[in-house]
Amino acid sequence: MTDTIFNKIIRREIPADIVYEDEHVLAFRDINPQAPVHVLFIPKVAKATLNDLSMDDAEYVGRLMVAAASYAKQEGFAEKGYRTVINCNHDGGQTVFHIHLHLLAGRSLHWPPG
Ligand code: AMP
Repeated sequence: MTDTIFNKIIRREIPADIVYEDEHVLAFRDINPQAPVHVLFIPKVAKATLNDLSMDDAEYVGRLMVAAASYAKQEGFAEKGYRTVINCNHDGGQTVFHIHLHLLAGRSLHWPPG
């Protein structure tokens, strides 16, 4: 897959407001936040979309969820609530082709989403 802006963030070639990092996952604030808290959790090894995953990648993508939930607990909004989203391809609204989990919180979120 082609290099994306998120790989540049991983390599520290462009700045980002990084809030969490472990061996497999990096998380940083979205540059265009849709809620008071809007953090993107990305795998350090890039795959373009959810369509590129197989069952062997269950841990790969699961780590994003677990990291997001841990962050929500750490920041104190887990009980109040939050939303996680992975957009896939054009109709899903995906614009950066490096899998990422959006974590949105800090306001009451509408359903269904737009
Ligand atoms: P998606 O539309 O699901 O592919 O989400 C891509 C997200 O990346 C959008 O919410 C953008 O605002 C965000 N984004 C794009 N470039 C950057 C950047 N340099 N730093 C932080 N967030 C970014």
